[in-house]
Amino acid sequence: MFKAILIEKDEAGYRAGLREIDEGQLPEGDVTVDVAYSTLNYKDGLAITGKGPVVRKFPMVPGIDIAGTVRESRHPDYRSGDRVILNGWGVGETHWGGLAQVARLKGDWLVPLPEAFTPRQAMAIGTAGYTAMLCVIALERHGVTPDKGEIVVTGAAGGVGSTAVALLSGLGYTVVAVSGRPEEAAYLRNLGAAEVLDRAGFSEPGKPLGKERWAGAVDVAGSHTLANICATAKYRGVVTACGLAQGMSLPATVAPFILRGVTLVGIDSVMCPRPERLEAWRRLARDLDPAKLDAMTGEIGLSEVVATAERLMAGQVRGRITVDVNR
Ligand code: NAP
Repeated sequence: MFKAILIEKDEAGYRAGLREIDEGQLPEGDVTVDVAYSTLNYKDGLAITGKGPVVRKFPMVPGIDIAGTVRESRHPDYRSGDRVILNGWGVGETHWGGLAQVARLKGDWLVPLPEAFTPRQAMAIGTAGYTAMLCVIALERHGVTPDKGEIVVTGAAGGVGSTAVALLSGLGYTVVAVSGRPEEAAYLRNLGAAEVLDRAGFSEPGKPLGKERWAGAVDVAGSHTLANICATAKYRGVVTACGLAQGMSLPATVAPFILRGVTLVGIDSVMCPRPERLEAWRRLARDLDPAKLDAMTGEIGLSEVVATAERLMAGQVRGRITVDVNR
């Protein structure tokens, strides 16, 4: 038997709770992992609270991120005792995930735990941090260097946002953090933000074009926020879009793209090819200050997951949350 969060949906409704599960119920897979840590991302919050259609099969163990040790493996790349991590691939959506003491997975989804990190640190980064790194790499690939100007980061006090602020400032960029939580301004400045702006200035319908300001952007909000950032990007600015915290819509015009040569880059972490994942984790080991990672991370046990997911969806969680599945 092992402990896990289980999401069920039937005549009695949609519900998530801590359960004891028989190992015979684990899904198919060629690697069994003793999970040490998982984490809570926005998508886990949507799944656990039922606020978004993340879970495609019931019952489901949520948790899109895993750090642990291989117990048994039929995969040629992994042996018992190997330390591994997993991000995405539909785990926690269509295949039982990491908010559990044991997971059975496809070995092809796993990545060796980077030597620079403990399992807890890897989960402090998690999908949110690895996605922030994918955004930074995309900015670089499109030629955005620190001398080009300011980089705006939305949802800055959240998981992706906090990591993006820390990474970009560490790399020498001037970071403008956008947050709906003025009380987190000191936290954001400590992570490296040069300026903190109220998200209210971004979230309402705006003009097709505004005064040019941003050389680059990491946007987790979507909707009017993303449209307004595109409209105020500098000539040839680069906007990376990875989230929908404000909404799924994109109420924009083509003006920024055809008049200012702005580039909108979509970022997906879930099906991201393995070489790019490995590169992102290599860069996180090099570029993320462990002291800043520590400053942005809180920790809970499995029994606190459901209540914390509600707080995450209410925008009350700062930075990142690791889940110690054995307490
Ligand atoms: P999170 O920790 O909950 O952070 C989300 C942040 O968004 C909140 O802390 C809040 O920051 C801001 N926010 C909330 N409501 C908003 C609104 N109405 N308008 C503007 N900003 C709002 O979540 P996360 O794990 O960082 O994920 C952030 C987003 O990225 C989510 O939409 C998630 O689905 C997406 N994501 C996508 C990928 C991918 O592969 N594309 C991977 C990871 C995450 P402030 O309080 O500072 O305003």
